[in-house]
Amino acid sequence: MTDLFSRMDDAQYCQFIEDIISKKPLTNEMIREMLSVTDRDSLKKMYDAAVAVKNHYFGKNVYLYSFVYFSTYCKNNCAFCYYNSKNKIDRYRVTPEELRKMCEELKDEGVHMIDLTMGEDPHFHNTPENLLEFVRITKEITGLPVMVSPGVVDNDFIKSLRAAGADFFALYQETYQEELYKKLRVGQSFEERTQARKNAKAAGICIEDGILTGFSKMKLSNGEPINPSVSDDIKSAIASIRGMQEADPDQVRVMTFEPQPGTPLAETTQASDLMELKVISILRFVFPDRLIPASLDVAGIPGMVDRLNAGANVVTSIISADSKLEGVVNFDRDVSLSERQRDAKSVIEKLHEMGLERGSQESFENYLNRNRSN
Ligand code: SF4
Repeated sequence: MTDLFSRMDDAQYCQFIEDIISKKPLTNEMIREMLSVTDRDSLKKMYDAAVAVKNHYFGKNVYLYSFVYFSTYCKNNCAFCYYNSKNKIDRYRVTPEELRKMCEELKDEGVHMIDLTMGEDPHFHNTPENLLEFVRITKEITGLPVMVSPGVVDNDFIKSLRAAGADFFALYQETYQEELYKKLRVGQSFEERTQARKNAKAAGICIEDGILTGFSKMKLSNGEPINPSVSDDIKSAIASIRGMQEADPDQVRVMTFEPQPGTPLAETTQASDLMELKVISILRFVFPDRLIPASLDVAGIPGMVDRLNAGANVVTSIISADSKLEGVVNFDRDVSLSERQRDAKSVIEKLHEMGLERGSQESFENYLNRNRSN
């Protein structure tokens, strides 16, 4: 059977790109067809169309975020996460003095924004001032925009984050299928999570949402499959893409689930990143003028290249070459720090090889200001 892209002649393909640029919505049937594409030429046409749309809105500019995972303590038990409270691992919590030192090192690295991420650590959740202090320190020392990824926090907490200078609030739903959500974000409210994002947007903070792919391979420790077939995975992805549209996010991400040792999904077979790449292109069609990350956390620099070539325009999870901090997925958990190549310099070198460039700080902050005032 032919797919959507192989059926298009050149004129129709150009018209498709024009339609996306003018924000004509995709139908669910079009998304389903795109998620089902396997033909190599059609995949290339899809990725190239996404890059053409990205180029229209962002040109060759790519934005870089430094990742500061400042506390790996968490009270929650997400089935997919290495840092869930039941996993017996070594944990750390950075002190304000340690954060100050890190910020001194980060301020001249060439990143556009600092992403302050934590598990739902009661030290910060129960005493918001502890987190507000971290936001203020980071802004003051680096002078850069700050993203906070604190988990679900109430509206007053969100407003105080804005007052402390937070520019972006990242909170991933992972899936908009509520049954699947219950299996992944065990014991956590679906609505409180969606509401926190809406509260942040209303408070004048840009918001990021994110979803996972690769469920068809997932099995819980009792052997129960999470999503039995690829067609369930496709339904799941469509529901999640549509779900993300509701809060009008300023940044949208997708990541392939990676089995983590010591978690209920540890024995799951790792899915390829093909579905993730297709979803990145579809996100570019559905959210043509929004930021879309290529994370270094899943497959390092080679994975970053594939994701930028599928329509992403931000590189996240940049970690200094000498950093002792963790990533979230950490595909390179066993790789020595000096070999990680997750630093800004290695990323910028690769961007230049690809004919891309680090966008200006001014263009990045213009994006934040424009979206915040919407
Ligand atoms: S995903 Fe976040 S909230 Fe869930 S267990 Fe991991 S660190 Fe905690």
